[in-house]
Amino acid sequence: MRKYVIVGAQGSGKGTQALLLARDLDLVHISVGDIFRWHVQNHTKLGAQVRRTMAAGELVGDDLVERVVRERLEQHDWNYGFVVDGFPRNRRQAEFFLESYDLDGVIHLDLPDAEVRRRVLARRLCSRCGLDYNLIAHRPKREGRCDACGGDLVIREDGTEEALAERLRLYHEKTDPVIELFARKEYVFTVDARDEIATVQRKIRGHLSLPPYEG
Ligand code: AMP
Repeated sequence: MRKYVIVGAQGSGKGTQALLLARDLDLVHISVGDIFRWHVQNHTKLGAQVRRTMAAGELVGDDLVERVVRERLEQHDWNYGFVVDGFPRNRRQAEFFLESYDLDGVIHLDLPDAEVRRRVLARRLCSRCGLDYNLIAHRPKREGRCDACGGDLVIREDGTEEALAERLRLYHEKTDPVIELFARKEYVFTVDARDEIATVQRKIRGHLSLPPYEG
């Protein structure tokens, strides 16, 4: 059983790295942000509760977040373990998590703020089919148009300069202390997130003494 948490600013590649780990090691990838986005897209009651907070780049209340994480982990579909992405984001969430689970490793993806800005402000989303683009790494063939359905590409609701500035401020204020807290109790290591996806994944596997990444 392997239990990991991946921490990093928006745009640091948390989701991508978590997915690669989960895919090859049969872990369950739990992204709190994805769970919330699913609820927003499907217009659930929970979606209505979190939509505005998310769009403003603010943090959803701890009680709600803890409930979502608890319910997700209580499904016990993680026979080989899990990798949690986007949680914990503050001290209280970290304490809640440490009370219930022993972790095998905390992966900290480190990305300078200037690079976070460059990456996040390049994100686009198809307004029709929801496909993600990035004007740096995944450009559409025709400017402003989705390759798959021809829909208009738009900036994500939480992808504006204002929302990003708020998220970065909160990240440093609230999440930096989480890394310190974990470091006292768990195995935490930092990987430079400016490297290419495969390089970052190889380094993560090295730190966790896992079979090497073949991708
Ligand atoms: P993410 O995709 O992880 O960046 O999450 C998207 C948004 O969901 C965040 O900007 C928050 O509004 C909300 N969110 C996700 N995870 C948490 C968390 N652990 N605590 C509070 N809010 C969260």
